Amino acid sequence: MDESDLKCPSCSAGDMERGTNEIEVPHFGKVIHYYMRCKHCGYRINDFAFQGDFPKEDKIEIRDKKDLEIKIARGSSGTVLIPELGLELYPGPLAESFITNVEGLLNRFLQLMPLFDDPEKVEETKNRIVDAIDGKLSFTISLVDPSGVSHFIRN
Ligand SMILES: [Zn+2]
Repeated sequence: MDESDLKCPSCSAGDMERGTNEIEVPHFGKVIHYYMRCKHCGYRINDFAFQGDFPKEDKIEIRDKKDLEIKIARGSSGTVLIPELGLELYPGPLAESFITNVEGLLNRFLQLMPLFDDPEKVEETKNRIVDAIDGKLSFTISLVDPSGVSHFIRN
């Protein structure tokens, strides 16, 4: 695929320019950070070249506030599912890889909420996410990644 003429998904006006960084990430060592940045509005898409050979499917249970500290490395081919909250994150050409903890993941979902169009459902889901961030809900997080890159960092 030739990405050189990819248009910005945010403003759809600008061309995306590409670059790479080498960064040091805890639990990974050196990681190559690829990014595309819109020349017009500055919108960024990040990807990381993780080296990994992790289980293709994994699952954690979140029972209390301290479980919110468990970290998640999500490669761009990883699917994240939280069935109790009705949250799903699927891979795609613009899927971002990221490393965050459970709380950070829930905050990401909160930011994505305005993209859904049923206002009642959005409100209900938002409230559940906020309860989850407060440690008031138990839920499970499933991570599925055929490339074996995405994984949980349990300590
Ligand atoms: Zn743009």
